Amino acid sequence: MEELISAISTPYGTGGVAIVRVSGDGALKLAAQMFTPSGKVGVEQFTPNVMYTGYIQCEGFADFGMCVYFAPPKSFTGGEVVEFHCHGGAQISRAVLARTRELGARVAERGEFTKRAFIAGKLSLSSAEGMVSMINAESLAQLRAGSLLYGEKLNADVTAVRSRLTDLLASIAADTDYPEEGIEKDELADVAGTLNAINAEITKLVQEYSVGKLIKSGVLVAICGEPNVGKSSLLNAFLGYDKAIVSSIAGTTRDAVEGAIMINDVKFHLTDTAGIRHTAGEVESIGIEKAKQILKSADIVLCLSDRGEFSAAGGIENDRLIKIFSKADEVTPFGNFDIAVSSKTGEGLESLKEMIVKKSLGGKSLDSAYVIEERHYECLKRASGWLTEAEQNSASYPPDVIAMDIKEAWSALGEITGDTANEEIINTVFAKFCVGK
Ligand code: GDP
Repeated sequence: MEELISAISTPYGTGGVAIVRVSGDGALKLAAQMFTPSGKVGVEQFTPNVMYTGYIQCEGFADFGMCVYFAPPKSFTGGEVVEFHCHGGAQISRAVLARTRELGARVAERGEFTKRAFIAGKLSLSSAEGMVSMINAESLAQLRAGSLLYGEKLNADVTAVRSRLTDLLASIAADTDYPEEGIEKDELADVAGTLNAINAEITKLVQEYSVGKLIKSGVLVAICGEPNVGKSSLLNAFLGYDKAIVSSIAGTTRDAVEGAIMINDVKFHLTDTAGIRHTAGEVESIGIEKAKQILKSADIVLCLSDRGEFSAAGGIENDRLIKIFSKADEVTPFGNFDIAVSSKTGEGLESLKEMIVKKSLGGKSLDSAYVIEERHYECLKRASGWLTEAEQNSASYPPDVIAMDIKEAWSALGEITGDTANEEIINTVFAKFCVGK
């Protein structure tokens, strides 16, 4: 018996159309009690997947709209689903929802429709996460990566690896059950070789996350340098409007100023930090301390100087640092720097963007990246760790001991697809969804 649940599936507020979704046993019966079709076909005779016009009867008024029935098992949730398409006024959709409640549907939890779809085997857990990533996408790159995940790309890769592990476990089990046929020494070497090959595939996915997380959350770019070198001007030039205060008085930017831009369909979060200098007042010093924290966590640090002196980026590793000679329209750049830029004339800005992309994403293709979830990354890392241990143990331990490590890896990978995910993991994933999805 599947409980009846209902929710408004469209964004709350005004719009052309709003959709109220009902799912569970008796959804069609519920619809029959609140929908009066314009045509001759009664609600309980509705052909699945066909829209019918009619009146949605609510407390005190009726809205002319549409109703559609999705029959099990070919519905989104796998169970009975009914949708009411009403006019998109906040009060209208709320009234339609209230009517479904009066008729016995309870409030759907976040992501409960999709959770039912997952339980019915309609999609993997990672695919459900891809769907959320698509819904929440702030950049085209995130949308693309989310759609690959939603399209079961990771699920397919992980399932293939798991099935190779299953084969390996089966051959080890056969050896344990029929020891007289014994695993020969060279076959043991083969176990190690197979483990190594499988682990290499997992490692490839693990490494992909370094780009995947930037695609999902955006790249953090911090702008630093001494006061008055043109940090705020650079931020404004990137944003195309004046967000930060530009002034010739040193120490104007005391707090971090932020803005975001898209480069190559990826989101870059820019933060203009307080100029770092030693003779600062109390308020400015707090800003400087904050600036140092931001630099520590940034993916890319742009250090500006109009005199070829970049000590403000002291301690920042080269692979995330770009030294910019600023105000290149005024001074002929000299010294050791990566690029010369003028925020005033725009000189060097496009090349700087290219440099930022190359440095952060390492020239990797964004079209094929789909390990974007930290949860998946953690599972992959755990699986890889177990396989490394299994490989190391294969020389000195009996096969059934190695099998235990392999099973751990198999299980960790299953958490990605959802096959071995426990209730807590599943609930955590769906808690990130919105109500009505
Ligand atoms: P910040 O303190 O490092 O944020 O520097 P600002 O962006 O506030 O700029 C300090 C001063 O340098 C201002 O008077 C700006 O007009 C000037 N400035 C900034 N960038 C440029 C540039 O590219 N060319 C020139 N000629 N002046 C600039």
